[in-house]
Amino acid sequence: MTVVLISRAESAATWAAEIRGQDPELDLRVWPDETRDLDPAAVDFVIAAKPPPGAIAAYPNVKAVLSLWAGVDHITSDPEFPAHLPIARMVEEGLTRGMREFVVAQALNAHLKMPEYIRQQNERVWRPEIRGPHGTEPLVDEVTVGILGLGVLGSDCAAALRDFGFQVAGWAKSRKRMDGVDCYAGDAERAAMLARTDILVNLLPRTAETENVLNAGLFAELPEGAYLINVGRGEHLVEEDLIAALESGRLAGATLDVFRTEPLPQDHPFWAHPKITVTPHVASITRVKTGVARLVSAIRAFERGETPEGVVDPEKGY
Ligand code: NDP
Repeated sequence: MTVVLISRAESAATWAAEIRGQDPELDLRVWPDETRDLDPAAVDFVIAAKPPPGAIAAYPNVKAVLSLWAGVDHITSDPEFPAHLPIARMVEEGLTRGMREFVVAQALNAHLKMPEYIRQQNERVWRPEIRGPHGTEPLVDEVTVGILGLGVLGSDCAAALRDFGFQVAGWAKSRKRMDGVDCYAGDAERAAMLARTDILVNLLPRTAETENVLNAGLFAELPEGAYLINVGRGEHLVEEDLIAALESGRLAGATLDVFRTEPLPQDHPFWAHPKITVTPHVASITRVKTGVARLVSAIRAFERGETPEGVVDPEKGY
């Protein structure tokens, strides 16, 4: 079985070594150096991380594409991507646990007003009471985290935040049931969740429906002074609407991990904005060992004619 790994990341060699170690029977070729003398018709599967346009379409007999990442927009945004091909997105414990750590940390940072204390430190200001009058500072059970997207990552973060003591609400397309998490479904129920959200976490996939979802209209539905954590995709956020919401005080601050252009351009206003924390798309990363175990078992499942977990529904686009 021939598998091509198309990744423009520097870590491609590390991934290849781990794949060969975990499944020596796969004929793994790293694109482009090891595929030059390969018959394109012989390729059965492609593992991809941001493949260049047309790279997957060059292999006419591919049975499925496996994404190195949870999101698949880096594959489906290729205009030449063959629409009929099944895509398995990345679902693996390391990625899920990494996102849990990042989201809980950022929610706590927002709750504890850490970005404001860091700003104060930079200005040598000693002003303790920004969390409320001394002795009345809220604890987590007085704070609601609302999560857009209750999929693999969103539901795991919801459970972790709940277990830490936050009030937690979550929104998805379909109705979910989770102990201790108030679940809202569909467009009709979105406003009800936003109205009670102090800290909003975006964990939606990027689709035609969700692009630009973080806009002035949505910000207006949040309580004054809410905090935004965007770990979904840069295309979810209308950047100028965020700046306006921060400047008017509608939003108190934002942690942004994903951007329309990555790396974030040097002259971008987000870098120096006093109410924005920028992280370089590091909220969570697929871990090599657990990620490869997932890739290998998904390839073997496809080979047996089974559908592994996390195959994208072409109708929904995620
Ligand atoms: P899933 O596919 O498991 O979950 C997606 C969730 O979003 C589902 O609950 C789904 O609802 C909901 N959803 C999708 N479209 C809509 C809509 N139009 N209205 C309401 N709800 C909607 O994805 P994951 O949890 O695995 O990943 C989510 C995203 O996180 C990825 O697509 C990626 O963009 C991002 N990500 C970011 C990383 C980072 O480092 N910053 C790392 C990994 C992922 P339903 O369940 O009803 O279908």
